[in-house]
Amino acid sequence: MHIAIIGAGIAGVTTAYELAQDGHAVTVFERHGSVAEEASFANAGVVAPGFTAPWRASHWLRRFWGRQRAALRLTWPLSSEDLAWLRRQRRASFADTRAINQAAMQRLATYSRARLHQVAGQLDYTFDRVEGLLILLRTERERERAQPTLVRLRDAGAPCREVDADEARRIEPALHPATPLAGAIQVPDAEAGNCRQFAVIVRDAAQQLGAQFVFNAAVALNPAQPASLWIAGQDAPYSFDAVVLCAGVAAGELLAPLGIRLPLAAVYGYSLSASVAEPVLAPRAVVLDRDIAITCLGRRVRVAGLAEIGGGGRDDAGGVLKLPEWAEQRLYRALTDWFPAAASLTNGVQIWRGARPMLPDGPPALGASGAPGLWLNIGHGAYGWSMACGAARIIADQIAGRASDIDLHGLGVERFR
Ligand SMILES: Cc1cc2nc3c(=O)[nH]c(=O)nc-3n(C[C@H](O)[C@H](O)[C@H](O)COP(=O)(O)OP(=O)(O)OC[C@H]3O[C@@H](n4cnc5c(N)ncnc54)[C@H](O)[C@@H]3O)c2cc1C
Repeated sequence: MHIAIIGAGIAGVTTAYELAQDGHAVTVFERHGSVAEEASFANAGVVAPGFTAPWRASHWLRRFWGRQRAALRLTWPLSSEDLAWLRRQRRASFADTRAINQAAMQRLATYSRARLHQVAGQLDYTFDRVEGLLILLRTERERERAQPTLVRLRDAGAPCREVDADEARRIEPALHPATPLAGAIQVPDAEAGNCRQFAVIVRDAAQQLGAQFVFNAAVALNPAQPASLWIAGQDAPYSFDAVVLCAGVAAGELLAPLGIRLPLAAVYGYSLSASVAEPVLAPRAVVLDRDIAITCLGRRVRVAGLAEIGGGGRDDAGGVLKLPEWAEQRLYRALTDWFPAAASLTNGVQIWRGARPMLPDGPPALGASGAPGLWLNIGHGAYGWSMACGAARIIADQIAGRASDIDLHGLGVERFR
């Protein structure tokens, strides 16, 4: 089959690789000049299947509203779609619904990590990665509040243990001794990797299998004819045997002319990446401090996290960006509180804002779209890197008419009809 893929983020690139491995002729269309230029550019890189769960915006708002360390910011203007999304998100937070969605996400993330390791083993190059996750608990109150996380990890079968502050400092010897610490949760089988670097390597492997990448090519779905695309600047649409939509936050707009309405929101996050100044004073694994991940990936320390909805969709991902003050304070504070001498912050700090493509109930939308020949691999939210390799294999199996390796209940688009 000749299959078109829209989008060369981590979802599109891994899908191209899996489809090319199955022997299909693959063409990837990307509106930017390279792979992983949007949400897959400088994310935290954490892969921790047991930790994967739907977000609870309403819960966060209640907990942190108005406080300096707000975990979720609502920035005006908020669109009516943003507000509707928040309402749907709240409804999906009720315990029974949330449990079903969490199980679906963890199945996919667990499968995906195994596939990530398989794919990584097939590649010619390696990428920066570290093993292990330490969730810091600054106060006794945080320790108490973390108990559900511990239960979630144990229920998911993830090896994990609660450790006291002394043990946490033995696991991460560079943790600043002056910053108070009540304890931590250690998750040894979690990991972090450089998502963009992996995307570049996988693109190379997909190209070796015959996949073609067409950059600087914005495309639109053609409602008049199944599995065909309008390519910007061309006079006629191009037809394919199938199209896989991997367009991140832009997927909603692309689907609307086909009458497919998905409640996809852009939940913005931020990261800063700086050169390692002193390797022994940098984190050994991923350190999580109040939803901010601090990682040493290769020669860079990356601090990433935060969540913001609204703000009028400023399109500055990947470009030069000034951090909003609240985000700057939180990212720099996490780094200087825990690893004050790890990174060189005087120059060359890369600031990034990315939009997580998020559906209100948590899981992505994978599989047949309902429109002939159009497949979806979108809406992975805060876990797109950890779910990419598994989601891509699932799409390839579905297109081939093969049964998937995992139960796909709760991952399809039909839940929004
Ligand atoms: C701060 C932050 C931290 C994160 N941390 C983690 C983490 O620790 N672990 C994890 O698993 N995930 C994490 N994520 C989430 C993860 O980064 C995303 O879920 C993932 O990158 C989404 O990948 P994607 O390929 O779906 O989207 P994208 O990477 O955004 O790719 C979509 C692509 O489609 C292209 N496109 C769109 N429309 C068109 C069109 N019309 N024509 C051509 N091309 C088009 C875009 O240009 C883009 O390149 C984080 C995200 C953020 C913001």
